[in-house]
This record gives sequence, structure tokens and C-alpha cells, in this order.
Amino acid sequence: MSRRVLLVEDDRELRATLRGALEVEGYEVHGAASLAEAQALCTHLADAHWPAGVDLVLLDLGLPDGNGLQLLEQLRRRHGLPVLVISAAHDDGQKIRMLDAGADDYLVKPFAVGELLARMRVALRHRGASVAPAITQYDNGGLSVDLNRRSVVCHGQTCHLTPTEFKLLARLVRSAGRVVTHRQLLADVWGPEHVEQTQYLRLYMGQLRAKLEADPANPRWLLTEPGVGYALAESA
Ligand code: CA
Repeated sequence: MSRRVLLVEDDRELRATLRGALEVEGYEVHGAASLAEAQALCTHLADAHWPAGVDLVLLDLGLPDGNGLQLLEQLRRRHGLPVLVISAAHDDGQKIRMLDAGADDYLVKPFAVGELLARMRVALRHRGASVAPAITQYDNGGLSVDLNRRSVVCHGQTCHLTPTEFKLLARLVRSAGRVVTHRQLLADVWGPEHVEQTQYLRLYMGQLRAKLEADPANPRWLLTEPGVGYALAESA
């Protein structure tokens, strides 16, 4: 069964290019050029293909009748759909707001179609995984984490983590391959009252890297997205 994608983009040329590339990959593409069109299409598709309507949304932010952020909040709340933001904005603040609002990922135009397809696959895999049992295993050349057994093995050696270090690593394992913002990490590991305490995060990320990475200054697994957050390299 082909995956349905809602493509919200007011640039007609880009919409046509993306539609072509996605259809070649076997996606069924539904295009919308404005917020109003996207909302109407969502309702129509949800009726036709209950309950979600589409499997993934590609969302431009600058739309003729408003900002895609309005639609993002609605989509996440009502349908829990994976949303990939595509935008011309080079603004990190905007990127963080999108990820905090529940976007799965964020691509800045112009981007390579191959990159978009790869990120779509990650977002879809994660969504599939969130209805199936939660992700509890991570394996990527030399690093193995088993959240159920609370075991971390690095290059064949058991690695001993403090409870907080383990909680931080576990949060990243559950979103492997995706950036988790500073706020999300602080809220999930330390609690919502600590979302401004980025110094905790820097400290514990430093400790984790020192324990796990062969070269902590050039991490292979625990990656930094400057000004935004951290990501665990995608599971192999
Ligand atoms: Ca636009």
C-alpha cells in the first residue's frame, strides 16, 4: 500500500518538482497551496481514509494565508501525524519553535530531494514504532543499548552510567536519528521546571561522550545540532 503524503507548499514549481520525485518513490501525493486548502484536504482525506487520512505531512511555513505553524499545532494535536517542515527561513529560533511544537524534522530550502526522502523514511519509521512497542534497543557499530535490561555496551565493554546519564541516553535512543531540542531533553530528563537549565545538559552530554565516544571532540554517536539540541546517530 502506498504512503499518502500531504504536501503544503505555495511555490508551484517546487510543489511540482517534489510531487514528481515523491511519486517516483511510490508515494501518493496530495498538494495544497495554502492553509485553507490544506485544512480542507485534511478533512476530506480523513473522511476517505479513516482515521489519519495521510501518513506524513510536508509543511512549508510561509503560506499566502498564514504561517504553517498554525497547521502544525492542529495536525499534531488532532491527528498525531508526522510533520516535516520545509522552509526558506534560516532562523534557528524558528527551527527550535517548530521542533518544540512537535515537528519531526526541519529542512531548509534549497535541499536535496535525496535528503528529504531519507528524513521522510526516518519520520515514518518512528511513527510506525510509536504505535508498535516503544524503541528499546539501539545498535550502531560498537555501541549497543538495551533499555529494558538497562545495559550499555561500548566496544565490547559494559559501560557504567549514572542514573541521569542513562536517562539522557535513553531519551536519545527513543528518538534515534532525530534532533531532540534542549527544552525537550531538559523537560524529559530533569522535569518541566528545568527547561532553561542548559548547563545541566552540557555537563551530562560531556560526561556521556567521555564515557562512550573514542574521540569526545568528534563524536560518532552523540551528535550536536548547534543552537538546537542533540541527536543520537541513526541506529544501524
Ligand atoms: Ca512559501
